[in-house]
Amino acid sequence: MRAFVSLIGAGPGDPGLLTLKGKLRLEQAEVVLYDYLSSLELLKYAPRAEKIFVGKKGFSEYISQEDINALVVTKALEGGGKRVVRLKGGDPYVFGRGGEEAEACLERSIPFEVVPGVTSAIAALAYAGIPITHRGAGSSFSVLTGNEMLRDDEKLDYRSHAGIDTLVFLMGVRTLPKIVAKLLEAGRDPQTPAATVQWGTTTRQKAVLATLETIVEAVEQAGIEAPAITVVGEVARYRQTLRWFDTLPLFGRRVAVTRTREGNSRLKELLEARGADVLEVPLIRFAPSSDPQTLHRTLSELSSGGYTWTLFTSQQAVEETFAQLEEMGQDARVFRTRVASVGPATSAALEAHGIRPDFVASKPGAVHLGRELPARAEHRILHLTSQQAEDALERELHARSLTYTRVEAYQTLSAELDTDTLEQLRKAELVTLASGSAARALAELVGTDFEVVTMGPQTEEAARAVGFARTWVAEDATLEALVDKVEEVLGNASSSV
Ligand code: SAH
Repeated sequence: MRAFVSLIGAGPGDPGLLTLKGKLRLEQAEVVLYDYLSSLELLKYAPRAEKIFVGKKGFSEYISQEDINALVVTKALEGGGKRVVRLKGGDPYVFGRGGEEAEACLERSIPFEVVPGVTSAIAALAYAGIPITHRGAGSSFSVLTGNEMLRDDEKLDYRSHAGIDTLVFLMGVRTLPKIVAKLLEAGRDPQTPAATVQWGTTTRQKAVLATLETIVEAVEQAGIEAPAITVVGEVARYRQTLRWFDTLPLFGRRVAVTRTREGNSRLKELLEARGADVLEVPLIRFAPSSDPQTLHRTLSELSSGGYTWTLFTSQQAVEETFAQLEEMGQDARVFRTRVASVGPATSAALEAHGIRPDFVASKPGAVHLGRELPARAEHRILHLTSQQAEDALERELHARSLTYTRVEAYQTLSAELDTDTLEQLRKAELVTLASGSAARALAELVGTDFEVVTMGPQTEEAARAVGFARTWVAEDATLEALVDKVEEVLGNASSSV
């Protein structure tokens, strides 16, 4: 039997805190059962798996633990046995009821494993600037549930924790007043530092530092609700000095980045390293040429020496052209022309298809290609591009009294985004745009009320042309400069905590 269950800790919220083994198991999974505290972003590691939401929210349980246990078992036994991942917030065995899910597997003799996770009890504090132990301030800690208060108010007695320096309460926002009263009753000093951290490790993190005496009021004033943890002990004081996450320059700022073929996840990483809440959106999509006959005829003419130069101004143009050639049963040998490329990415795409460009513009951008192309008046120039080709190339060539033929090799269209993504996109404060087509698509999809940062002046020009008023250009054409510009534009006026 292939049935196998992995109980995996998803970590407290920052997707980067998943373990390598957890990621591997997600990749192998056929079924993933996840709940609301486990980061949705992690599901991308399991593109082929059936994904089932079994979330519980606060106290109103949508699905009972018994039903979850039963579902884990049913899915594992389905169709001759499946690899099931049960993705749980934080660590599966820290107030996660993971043990009960393991017992359910045991009962049906289904092999299982546990992949521990980073628990919020420690990590949410760390991201709030609080070390759970610290020389001289705390050498022991207890992790407790605040939930117990609801059931067994009378029995609960914190005197047994009297010798423990640091107390960490999970699930204790609602019952915080009771917890505090009980701690005071058990003899804790009212001046003991205390902190509460909501949505720790995420860009929504909110934290307050107070004392045992004032924490209830501070939490109320800050509007903190579940999920949050509260720490009571001298270590909480270190938030004043060791805070590092919610003070990042772009902390909590919502930035959308347009997805491009490459470099985008690095852009996301760079922005996240400065604390931004990053949404990756594919604003454009590509479709085959609307005029395949002309494209077909043009490509056939290439081999009969009809043109002197073929110009490529995007990777996509290269890919679509070669897709068409393949359909025609042809290959790179049809290019009896010189080939020019707009920049390194386009050149790399050409080289992957066996063509080393004869000429590459010194700086990426159609303008530069137009200015620098070593062509003469008698040359016949072909530009294989999309229906949305920027006119800059044509302008520059005309200025040099060169003419060229533009043929549509593919179409650039606005992406079709689901309502969820559209809604998130509307909430973005700033969007980084990678092309004029992306600018047009953004305007079309959700309007122009954003700060816009682009890598180059041509995209900025295109953005302005479709109505974006607040546009900025990176100092140079690197991702680092782009991110610097984003930081300059959004500053951090509202580090909100
Ligand atoms: N197994 C989880 C805890 C599950 S109990 C873990 O190891 O973290 C759920 C409780 O965990 C919440 O009510 C809250 O108290 C705490 N919690 C989980 N994620 C949190 C986060 N990102 N920030 C603050 N508290 C969190």
